[in-house]
Amino acid sequence: MEFFETAFVVSAHRLDQLPQDNLPEIVFAGRSNVGKSSLLNTLLNRKQLVKVSSRPGKTTGLNYFLVENAAYFVDLPGYGYAKVGKDLRTQWGKLITSYLQTRSQIACVVVIMDLRHGVKHLDSELLGWLRQHGVPFLTVYTKADKLSGNERSRNSSLLDAGHGLRPDERIIFSATSRLGREPLIERLQTIAGI
Ligand code: GDP
Repeated sequence: MEFFETAFVVSAHRLDQLPQDNLPEIVFAGRSNVGKSSLLNTLLNRKQLVKVSSRPGKTTGLNYFLVENAAYFVDLPGYGYAKVGKDLRTQWGKLITSYLQTRSQIACVVVIMDLRHGVKHLDSELLGWLRQHGVPFLTVYTKADKLSGNERSRNSSLLDAGHGLRPDERIIFSATSRLGREPLIERLQTIAGI
C-alpha cells in the first residue's frame, strides 16, 4: 500500500492555526529521538518529508501532513526534553493538551516507543491521560531491527504488561527494515477511512 499524495500543510503553534476542513487526524506522539520522524517517512514513503533530527527536542509546533486529501497525519513535538511529567498541561505544553482534549476529529493517537527500552514513565503518563480522556490510541514499538527475534518477543511482552496493552493494541515496527509498515497502514486506513 502506498500513499501517493502527501504534502506538508502547516506547523501550528496556536489552535486557531489548525486546518478547518474537519478531516480525520492521526496523531503521532513519542519521546524525543524515539524514531517518530523516521516512522512517518517510512509510512509515507518519503525520505525526508519529516525531518529526521540530529538534535532532538527542537520542534515545538504541531506539524500537519495531508495524506491522499483524506486525512491529516499530525506530528507532535517529542516529549522527554519538554517533559510530559505529572501534569501534561504545564510540562508538555498547554497547546498539545488542549489540542488532544478538544480536537474531535482525532481518529487515533499513535504512541511510539522504543522496543529496546523498558516501560518509560512519560509514556505511561500519556497512555493514562489518553485512557482517562477517552482518546483512541494505538501503540507502536519501533527500532525492532536492533533486536533479535527472542529479544523482540521478550521486550514486547514486558511493554504490553507494563502498559496494560493487549497484543492487538500495538504493532512492532522498524523504519530500517520496514517491518510492521503494512499492518500499521492497514490499521490507520481502517481507523481514518483513507
Ligand atoms: P524522532 O526524534 O522521534 O523524530 O526520531 P528520528 O526519526 O529523528 O530518529 C532518531 C534516530 O533513531 C535517528 O538516528 C534515526 O536514524 C534512528 N532510527 C529511527 N527509527 C529507527 C529504526 O527503526 N531502526 C533503527 N536502527 N534506527 C532508527
